[in-house]
Amino acid sequence: MVLSDLGRRINAAVSDLSRSPTLDEKAFDGMVKEICNALIESDVNVRLVASLRNSIRRAVNFKELGPAVNKKRLIQKAVFDELVKLVDPHAEPFKPRKGKANVIMFVGLQGSGKTTTCTKLARWYQARQFKSCLVCADTFRAGAFDQLKQNATKAKIPYYGSLTQTDPVVVAREGVEKFKKERFEIIIVDTSGRHRQEQDLFDEMVQIQHAVKPDQTIMVLDSTIGQQAEGQSRAFKEAADFGAIVLTKTDGAAAGGGAISAVAATHTPIVFLGTGEHMLDLERFAPQPFVSKLLGMGDMQGLVDHVQSLKLDQKDTMKHIAEGVFTVRDLRDQLQNIMKMGPLSKMAGMIPGLSNMMSGMDDEEGSLKLRRMIYICDSMTMKELDSDGKLFVEQPARITRIARGSGTSVREVEDLLTQHKMMAGMAKQMKGGMANMQKAQGAM
Ligand code: GDP
Repeated sequence: MVLSDLGRRINAAVSDLSRSPTLDEKAFDGMVKEICNALIESDVNVRLVASLRNSIRRAVNFKELGPAVNKKRLIQKAVFDELVKLVDPHAEPFKPRKGKANVIMFVGLQGSGKTTTCTKLARWYQARQFKSCLVCADTFRAGAFDQLKQNATKAKIPYYGSLTQTDPVVVAREGVEKFKKERFEIIIVDTSGRHRQEQDLFDEMVQIQHAVKPDQTIMVLDSTIGQQAEGQSRAFKEAADFGAIVLTKTDGAAAGGGAISAVAATHTPIVFLGTGEHMLDLERFAPQPFVSKLLGMGDMQGLVDHVQSLKLDQKDTMKHIAEGVFTVRDLRDQLQNIMKMGPLSKMAGMIPGLSNMMSGMDDEEGSLKLRRMIYICDSMTMKELDSDGKLFVEQPARITRIARGSGTSVREVEDLLTQHKMMAGMAKQMKGGMANMQKAQGAM
C-alpha cells in the first residue's frame, strides 16, 4: 500500500468513528482494528502494530472518560501521537560542524539509491555554505565511478575516485585525506551496495569504516522493499552501526511500512527522504510533519523549508507565520509559488487539506484547480486579501460576488476559505516554533 493510501485509510477510520452516532467502545475498537489492518497491509511489523494498538487503547480509556470529554479530539490526538512515536527513534541526528572536516559514509543495498543520494546530500550541504565533496569507494560495480562523476559534475561538486585502483579501502582513504587537506567540510564517501548474505562485502565495508573514521554513517534504505527492510537494516546496523537512515523512493508506488519498521527496529533516525530522481528531490525528515503529511494534514514546515530553498518571494508570509498570522493574501502568494515550483502533486501534499482535495487528480487537473483558486483571490478587495478571512462570515453576499467575478462557483470560494481557515489555524500553532526553526536552520 502506498504511504499516502495508508494515511487516507487511517484518516477515514478516524473520521468514520467521529461521525458514528454512538461513539462507544465498540465503535472505537473497530477503528483501532481498521488502523492496525491498514498498517499491517503496508508491511509494518505485526509486533509494532500490536504495541501501537495497546498504546492507543491506553491513551483513550473509555471506562474513565466522562461524558464531557471531547472524545473525538482525544482519539485523533492519540492516533497521531502513537504514529509519531512509531517513526520517532528518540535519537538526535548528527549535526555537522562548520570549519571542520565532517566525513559521512554511505552504506546500503545495491540499487537503493546510494549514489544518487550522496550527490543530493552534498548539494544540500553545499547550498548551506558547507564546502562539500564526494569520494567514490565503489570499485566493485563497473560504472559506479562514472555515475558518481556525472552526477557530481552536474551538481558542480568536486569528486574523487579511481579507474585503476581496485581496493576500495585505499580509494576511500586517499580521497578523504586529499579532501581533508583541501579543507573540505563535508566529505561524503559512497561505498558499493551489498546484501547481508555477502560476508566479504560486509567485511570490506567495515574496513572502509575503520580507514576513513566517519563522523556519521548513513544507511540508504529503499522504501519500497517491504518486509525485507527490517532484516536488512538489522544486518547493516550490526556490521556498520549506522547512525542515520535516508529513506529513498518515497515518491514510488509501493508500500512504505517496511521502512517504518526498520526505523523502529534499529532505533535510528531517518534524517532525509528521497522524493524523486532529481538532485533537488531530498527532504528533511521530522516525525511530526511526516505523520501530518501521511494523514493529509499537510506539512507547513516542509513547505516553508522548500519555499525558502527556492528563494521565492515569500518574505511577508514568513514574517506573518512567525507572528502566528496567515492572511488570505498569504494563501494566494503560496498558491502562486506552488505553480512555479511543480511537480504539483508533490507540493500539494505539503499544504494542509490540499492533498485530500487533490487526490485522484493528475498534475494538469491539479494546476487548473490551483489557477481557479488564484482567480478567486484576485477577485477579492485589498482589505479582504489582507484579512484573516473572518469578514466573509458577516458578508456572505461577497462570496457570491467573488464567485461571479472570478468565474467560479460559490462552493469553490467556500472551499478556498475553509482551506485558508485551516492554514491560519496551523500558522497560529506554529507561532514561536518558526523562530526556533529558523534558528536551527541557521545552525545547520
Ligand atoms: P545505488 O546502486 O544504491 O547507488 O543506487 P542509485 O543511486 O544508482 O539509484 C538506483 C535508481 O534509483 C536510479 O535509477 C535512481 O535514479 C533511482 N532513485 C534514487 N533515489 C530515488 C528517489 O528518491 N526516488 C525515485 N523515484 N528514484 C530514485
